[in-house]
Amino acid sequence: MPIEFRKIVVSSRFSPPDSGGAESSQEIEYRMDPLTGRWCRLNVVRARRPRQVSVDTSAIGELAERARASCPFCPEAIEKSTPTYTQLPYKRLKRGDCWVFPNLFPFSKHHSVTVFTREHFKTLDQITADELMNGLNASLEYLRDVAALDPAARYWLLCWNNQPPAGASILHPHLQVLADEKPANTLQQEIEASEKYSREGSCYWGDLIEVEEERGERMVKHGERVAWIASYAPLGNREAIAIFKGISSLSRLAPSDVEEFCKGLMGVTRYYVDAGFTSLNLAFYSGPSDSDISKYFYLHARIVARPSPTPIYVNDDGFLEKLFLEPVIDATPEDLAASLRKYMP
Ligand SMILES: [Zn+2]
Repeated sequence: MPIEFRKIVVSSRFSPPDSGGAESSQEIEYRMDPLTGRWCRLNVVRARRPRQVSVDTSAIGELAERARASCPFCPEAIEKSTPTYTQLPYKRLKRGDCWVFPNLFPFSKHHSVTVFTREHFKTLDQITADELMNGLNASLEYLRDVAALDPAARYWLLCWNNQPPAGASILHPHLQVLADEKPANTLQQEIEASEKYSREGSCYWGDLIEVEEERGERMVKHGERVAWIASYAPLGNREAIAIFKGISSLSRLAPSDVEEFCKGLMGVTRYYVDAGFTSLNLAFYSGPSDSDISKYFYLHARIVARPSPTPIYVNDDGFLEKLFLEPVIDATPEDLAASLRKYMP
């Protein structure tokens, strides 16, 4: 089935200040996600305007310094300040510099935190591929142990809120790891839509990689196991999507897949910092851990930039995003892909 990249373009007409009453217009592009039918919108002029990039990390650095003494995730505190497991063969899982332990205020029956560096504060460009790789691998080991304990918790969420504008309440870098009995909203929509798409005889995710490769405008890097694409209709700003070819679940990831992903992720984080973003959300969208649905669904990760943590920043979740679930996007995916390509290993 051909993938349709649908868009609607409208013009907004008005007279800008100091134009002597002359009318001008700006184009607004509504884009529909080809899989789910979800819409987003962008103002093409605004998306293309040159941005003043200045990231001042001094305020967040000072905040981090003040919070250091009471940080529960720093090496000297972590064994005293964090909860322990009661049903797993360990109290906390320790792998190298990584610690996995229960979230003190869980959103799921199984909700853990993975601290992946001993360093209390790191800017986005200081976080290394090795640190993230070790953090993801330790999280996956924990999730496999959960699966043995509670096979019904088959929807694994592996996510990262980096810095407070992305929802992190503790500055010390950490991942969030959950195992649920039901898929979270957008994951459920994607799995259902992928299954529906496959009734025509092919896999949406395989088709998407193929068509983006042919068109070239949003393909960032087509790696051995992971294809990096700038989403046609993003959920968030500067959204990159990493699709794991032929794998439907986090439970089926090999260490080499994790390594390839983390190296690519460094390209995205380096680009974000250069583009003026130091905060991000990352989430894996994983099919059920106990079955292979790669016939119609591929595991993928979405990464979106969030506002930088200046003392007074403008949040990027306004009424359209929060209450209408219709993101307003600040750059065209095609321009994003062109920029990201330069950062990919
Ligand atoms: Zn700390």
